[in-house]
Amino acid sequence: MTMENEGSLLSVRRIYYRGKLNSCNYTCSYCPFGKKSHPTSTTQDKQAWNRFITAIEQWKGESLQLFIIPYGEALIHRYYREGIMQLAALPQVAGISCQTNLSFPADEWLDELRATPALRGKIKIWASFHPEMTSVEKFVRQLHTLHNAAIQVCAGAVGNPSVKNTLADLRDALMPDIYLFINAMQGLKSPLSDEDIRFFTQLDNLFKYDLRNAPAQWENCSGGRSACFIDWKGDIFACPRSKVKIGNLYQSQKTGQNQKLDTSLPCQRKVCDCYIAFSNLTNHPLHDILGKGTFWRIPDKSLITAVFFDVDGTLTDVQGKVPESYANTLRYMAQSVPLYLATSLSMEQARRKLGKTLFSLFKGGAFADGGLLLYDGQNRCLPVELLPDVNGESAKITAYSYEGQVYKYSMLVYEKEQRENILSQLKAKPYQVFYKPPLITVVHKEAGKKKGVLHICKVLAFPLEQVLIVGNSQKDWEMMSAVPHSCAVMNSEPFLKEHARYTLNPDRLPAFFRFRK
Ligand code: SF4
Ligand code: SF4
Repeated sequence: MTMENEGSLLSVRRIYYRGKLNSCNYTCSYCPFGKKSHPTSTTQDKQAWNRFITAIEQWKGESLQLFIIPYGEALIHRYYREGIMQLAALPQVAGISCQTNLSFPADEWLDELRATPALRGKIKIWASFHPEMTSVEKFVRQLHTLHNAAIQVCAGAVGNPSVKNTLADLRDALMPDIYLFINAMQGLKSPLSDEDIRFFTQLDNLFKYDLRNAPAQWENCSGGRSACFIDWKGDIFACPRSKVKIGNLYQSQKTGQNQKLDTSLPCQRKVCDCYIAFSNLTNHPLHDILGKGTFWRIPDKSLITAVFFDVDGTLTDVQGKVPESYANTLRYMAQSVPLYLATSLSMEQARRKLGKTLFSLFKGGAFADGGLLLYDGQNRCLPVELLPDVNGESAKITAYSYEGQVYKYSMLVYEKEQRENILSQLKAKPYQVFYKPPLITVVHKEAGKKKGVLHICKVLAFPLEQVLIVGNSQKDWEMMSAVPHSCAVMNSEPFLKEHARYTLNPDRLPAFFRFRK
């Protein structure tokens, strides 16, 4: 941004636009715009839209991201679809999205777009699912048609507890790499139950942000600075929730001058009470997760070329089983990215926990806290050479070995006194000892999950900035902190959730990352 543009209209890089439209072809029971017919306002809406397009064509400022957020359904009107193509074709427009109920003729639009394939990369869709008005099947078919044509999409629905099963069906029917968001339902007679919150959080791991909203923070808001909302008259506001006018788009066109935006008055709201508001807060955690796609609610997916998973509590649930949705996602991910394990379990234990078929999806990993590394047909075993003179009578000792070398001992010792005795004997030797009564585990002193993961990444030339590590415990943080893409699962220890960059469950990863072998 040039200094002369600072604080002016030309410093804006993201614009929300809402026209005069206030009608929709759907009749959702809670919505004031359903099936209203307003021929005059549609005419005015079209005029306003064309005026907006002309202003953007003449835009002299920063490269723009645009987002059309109509009251009602815009894309059923040809002039909106054509206008979006016109805007996307402009070099100063980096991307453009539109909120829609997805009832417009997507195939027809794609045919029109086929002549200009470059535009498809710039056009995005925020598709809202309305279970009262359409079926999962129909909605998903439309969305997949757009997604498969390289249009970036996100899907969303209101978290209505009475349609939980339908929303679960929607999540299951959508391709795993499409982000489904759940908006907290307004006007509920009683607050959501813990079970409902858990349910919606499972569908949308970012649900808590919508549930909480955010206190308005004018000092941390990009509204009126790098982002703004413009209505059909051209009036400019910091965001779609602010009622404080700070300028007018067409004023500067008239005067030919670079208009200063008046941000001296705060927006006067106490709460940024919807996604389109709180996503403007520059300090919101969403930016770390969705990156540049925060504006459109479509994850800007980082490229990942290797994924490491801890096992216990990360891939397995409280019963020690891998949930079906995780298993399906692992199968899906394994087609496009090499998967590895990074676990304190021995290889045999990991295989038993995951089951043979699931285990075979992994190309190896760091087992026994790095005591054994297996990767692409190679191995590195750090043998535990000496075992103290442990009285075996009441201690159940298991030795885990690879090609004849023991890389891990585990001892189940139920008597406290005996445990302490063993621990003090182990202290005298250069072992690495993990202790969680009644279990004592011994591995080589040089072993470590972090060292193991780094070794594998180095040998296989995985750039660390393209490595994703997923864990659940504070102990996992050491290895996770070695890469920029660290992910805690939703039921992780609080420390890990605070420190990891992402908090996402394994079955949601394809929606947030781009995988490549
Ligand atoms: S699809 Fe959206 S705008 Fe249309 S009636 Fe339903 S909630 Fe209202
Ligand atoms: S309500 Fe809008 S303008 Fe006000 S702080 Fe929140 S995002 Fe910014």
